[in-house]
Amino acid sequence: MRIVVLAGGIGGARFLLGVRAYAREVGAEVTAVVNVGDDLLLHGLRVCPDLDSVMYTLGGGADPERGWGRVGESWTVKEELAAYGAEPTWFGLGDRDVATHLVRTTMLNAGYPLSAVTEALATRWQPGVRLLPATDDRLETHAVVEVDGARRAMHFQEWWIRYRAGLPTDRFVFVGADAAKPAPGVLDALGSADLVLIAPSNPVVSVAPILAVPGLREAVAGTPAPVVGVSPVIGGAPVRGMADRCLAVVGTECSAAGVGGLYGGRSDGGLLDGWLVDTTDAGTTVADVTVRAVPLWMTDTDATVAMVRAAVELAGSGRAA
Ligand code: GDP
Ligand code: CA
Repeated sequence: MRIVVLAGGIGGARFLLGVRAYAREVGAEVTAVVNVGDDLLLHGLRVCPDLDSVMYTLGGGADPERGWGRVGESWTVKEELAAYGAEPTWFGLGDRDVATHLVRTTMLNAGYPLSAVTEALATRWQPGVRLLPATDDRLETHAVVEVDGARRAMHFQEWWIRYRAGLPTDRFVFVGADAAKPAPGVLDALGSADLVLIAPSNPVVSVAPILAVPGLREAVAGTPAPVVGVSPVIGGAPVRGMADRCLAVVGTECSAAGVGGLYGGRSDGGLLDGWLVDTTDAGTTVADVTVRAVPLWMTDTDATVAMVRAAVELAGSGRAA
């Protein structure tokens, strides 16, 4: 069995812990297609927040309390940069983390594509799933905001971390998406999958930028495998973080029904055959999608494996199975 998961950072990483454990039980292969829209250049270093969250989490090197970055992290480089007044100062650049960005940037500068660099970094972390960036090309999520009466585009990370998603915002744009191509292996993985899962990641700024790569949305919509999504919203609230602010920007209600409707039913030109919602949201309906309610709190790996099992069962009950 081949499982493909579309994933953002922290929510995607936690979900993948469950997918990996399930896959080990049944002998399945897992490919994660990960968002690169959050990637940014900091002090000359290429930082890939979502790929790193997934890689560190699956590799056992993530800080479980903070949710992002390395466990046992120290911050000397960040303090020294601040002492020089070197901007930006709002991004949490840890010392251990910097080593990852140095290796990545060196390889990128030597001409290796991001997918090859990601594979090289993963030889250290042994994540147990194949990690693919959605694209090797530059694709950056920007927020179109109004500051002092003037409209301008700002990198999503600045909007999210520095301004805590609190600026009046028109829309998000995926800079570079038009010219981007799916990374090697992405379309093949979707074309030969037995099951495609959309992780409970932020639909607006984690999953949408993956789907914005030309050909990728079509490959998900057209895969012979059933496609099942897992709601990142429980009882009208994002479980952790500020995804409600992103949903507000695109005019989508922050609810399991709202996000399910955003992805849409496959027979309706959308993506989903099945949609898993939390038991709190039992009774949710999405046009042309089979909805099932199970506990969706990823409190530990066992709870997450149960979610994955429910997704597999839902896929098996659907028309595409
Ligand atoms: P990011 O890139 O680090 O922001 O991470 P993702 O986009 O992959 O995931 C963030 C989303 O995960 C949040 O918006 C939450 O809605 C969702 N999330 C976090 N923890 C849980 C959980 O335990 N259960 C569910 N269903 N969703 C969760
Ligand atoms: Ca992210």
